[in-house]
Amino acid sequence: MRQPHPSLTGGAGGGSPFFNPEVETLSRSEIEALQLERLQKTVRHCMNNEFYRKKFDEAGITPDDIKTLADVRKLPFTTKQDLRETYPFGMACVPIRDCVRLHSSSGTTGNPTVILHTKKDLDEWANQVARNLWMVGLRPDDVFQNSSGYGMFTGGLGFQYGAEKLGMLTVPAAAGNSLRQIKFIKDFGTTAIHAIPSYVTRLYEVMQQEGVDPRRDTKLKVLAIGAEPHSEEQRKRIEEMMGVKAYNSFGMSEMCGPGVGFECPEQNGMHFWEDYYIVEIVNPLEPVPDGEIGELVLTTLCREAMPLLRYRTRDLTRVLGRTCPCGRNHVRIDRMRGRSDDMIVLRGVNIFPIQIEKILMKFPEVGTNYLITLVTEDNNDQMIVEVELNEGTDDFAKLQTLEKEIRHQLGDEILLKPIVKLVAKGSLPVSEGKAVRVVDKRKVYQ
Ligand code: ADP
Ligand code: ZN
Repeated sequence: MRQPHPSLTGGAGGGSPFFNPEVETLSRSEIEALQLERLQKTVRHCMNNEFYRKKFDEAGITPDDIKTLADVRKLPFTTKQDLRETYPFGMACVPIRDCVRLHSSSGTTGNPTVILHTKKDLDEWANQVARNLWMVGLRPDDVFQNSSGYGMFTGGLGFQYGAEKLGMLTVPAAAGNSLRQIKFIKDFGTTAIHAIPSYVTRLYEVMQQEGVDPRRDTKLKVLAIGAEPHSEEQRKRIEEMMGVKAYNSFGMSEMCGPGVGFECPEQNGMHFWEDYYIVEIVNPLEPVPDGEIGELVLTTLCREAMPLLRYRTRDLTRVLGRTCPCGRNHVRIDRMRGRSDDMIVLRGVNIFPIQIEKILMKFPEVGTNYLITLVTEDNNDQMIVEVELNEGTDDFAKLQTLEKEIRHQLGDEILLKPIVKLVAKGSLPVSEGKAVRVVDKRKVYQ
C-alpha cells in the first residue's frame, strides 16, 4: 500500500525505502499523466516571459497545442546560448522580487549564465536531493559530510539543503584541505560523503599517507559521487579504496543542481526524476529509441523562477530502462559519456576521455590521475596519455611492458595508438574543482 507524502506526515517513515513514496512508486502511465499536467502548466507559465513568447511566435505554437506528452516535441529547444543572450534575468518567469537565490556559471566564454530560484524552487530542489540520499539508505541518524565546492557551484548548497531536509547532521566541509576532512570524518563519525570522483581518490591518497584505513578507522557507509564524467571502472576503484558503495549523482545548474538523477541501490543507471523533468534523448535533434546514445534534453516541470523547455544539455547518454527492481519506474539513464564539447577529434577519429579512463583503470599498476595532451609534432597531431603509477618502481623492463600493453589496449578502444607515459605518483596536476583531463596544444585547433 502506498504511504502518504512525507511532507504531510513530517518525514518518510524510517522503514520505508522511499522518501516520496507516492511519486517514487508511480506506474509509467501515472508518471506520464502527471508529466502532461505539469508540462501544460509550465508552458503556460513560460508565457509570462518575453523570450518564450517570441520563441513560441516564431515556432507558430501556443500553449493550447500541448495536448499530449508527445507534443513536447513541438516546443522549441533552449540552449546555453539563450541563457547567455538573456543574461542576467531575461529568462525569469516571475518578478525578480519573488526570487531568493541565484547561481551562476563561470562564463569563460562570453557572458556567464544565471539561474534563479524562488523559495519553492529551493524546497523542491532540497526534496530531490533528500529523495536521492534516502534512496541509498541514508536516514536522520547519519552524518553527512559535503566535501564539494560551495559558493556558485551547486554541489555545495544543493547537497547541504537536501541532506538537512532529510534530517542528517550535515557538515559543510567544502572541497580541499584533506587533512581537515579526514579529521572531521573521524571526529564527527561521518557516515556519508559527497564529493567529485577525482577528489575522493585524492582524499584516499592522503588517508593512506596518514595511515588511515577507511574500513577500520571510519564509519563511512555511502559515497555520492558526481558532477564530472567518470567510468564504471573508476567507480569500482573508488568503492574498493573506501570500502563502501559509491552512487553516481547527476546534476546541472540549469536544472537546479544535483538532484536531477541518482543511482538506486541496484546501481543500474541513474533514476532521473520524471515528476520533475521530461527526459528526451535526441540525435542529432530527433528522438532516438531507448538504448541508443544521443544528447540529453531536459524540460523542467516544477520550476517557478526559470523553467527551461527542452534544454539541450550537450551531455551524451542513453536510456537503459523504464522499470527497476527497486520499485521505481522513473527512467534509468546510463552514465554520461561526456559532453559533446569534450569530444576529442584527432586525425578524424572521435574520442571521449572516458574511453581512455576505462582502459587505464583496468591496470592495477596505475593510479586514478591521468592527463591527455594533444600536440602537433612534425605536422602530425599526436595524443600523449600520461598516467600516474600507484607505486614507485625501478623495474624499467616492467614499465616498458606495461606502457606497451596500455598503448595496445588503448589502440583497440580508440582506434589510434597514443604515446603512453607512466609518471610518478603525485606528479600530475590536481584541480580543486572538476578534473581537467584534456589539454589541447595542437597547432591547428579542430
Ligand atoms: P558547469 O557547466 O560549469 O560544469 P554544472 O555544475 O552545472 O556547471 O555542470 C553540469 C555538468 O556536469 C553536466 O552537464 C555534466 O556535463 C556534468 N556532470 C554532472 N554530473 C555528472 C555525472 N554524474 N556524470 C558525468 N557528468 C556529470
Ligand atoms: Zn532503481
